Amino acid sequence: MLVDLIALDGDDTLWHDGVVWTVARDRFRTLVQRYSNGALVDSKLDEIEVGNLAHFGYGVKGFVLSMIETAIEVSKGAVTGLEVQQMIDLGREMLARPVQLLEGVRETIERLASVYPLILLTKGDLLDQETKLARSGLGDFFSAVEVVTEKNQETYARVMRRHRVPPSRFLMVGNSLRFDVLPVVAAGGHAVYVPSESTWAHERLPDEPSETTYARIDRFGDLPRWLKAAGLSA
Ligand SMILES: [Mg+2]
Repeated sequence: MLVDLIALDGDDTLWHDGVVWTVARDRFRTLVQRYSNGALVDSKLDEIEVGNLAHFGYGVKGFVLSMIETAIEVSKGAVTGLEVQQMIDLGREMLARPVQLLEGVRETIERLASVYPLILLTKGDLLDQETKLARSGLGDFFSAVEVVTEKNQETYARVMRRHRVPPSRFLMVGNSLRFDVLPVVAAGGHAVYVPSESTWAHERLPDEPSETTYARIDRFGDLPRWLKAAGLSA
């Protein structure tokens, strides 16, 4: 049994991402500290951010709007135009930051790309994810970029159809059990889970199901060996 297409998540699978958000949240907390205490700001921002996902989707632009909305709430409307400008600038910096690959990613991608077509399959803003891939230096190894609104069973089924790959010959690799693994398995595909300490709470599951339907590897660099062991490599 072989794999015809490998889809890869980007954030915290190929490159560091969670840490960028942690730094941004720290800076936002400092920005509004004269209005409210840190713990309250954190929980308010979390609440507003998750509530806004349905409206603005995943990504930095939505995060900027959530910061502004949180600042308005915690300051009871007293936040200044200058402070709002600093939140917009913070978002702009997040979008322009250098992309840092996780360990072993470049060699592994080079190796995989010589055998399989690879696609980047991610949530977020189209422009941000496309330029992030370009900045990562990995762009040439990917045959397509799929930026999706949600990663659910239907999304994966649609991606498989669009690329004319039967589910049994589709493999997804990512750091979120909730979004990169379980819906793929539900759609009949193969999935490999590469845990990351930086995974956003929203992408985590309170209880991780056992690895009966998916595989788990410790490092991205273990992927070629896993493909071989699973009998999926040519
Ligand atoms: Mg991810």
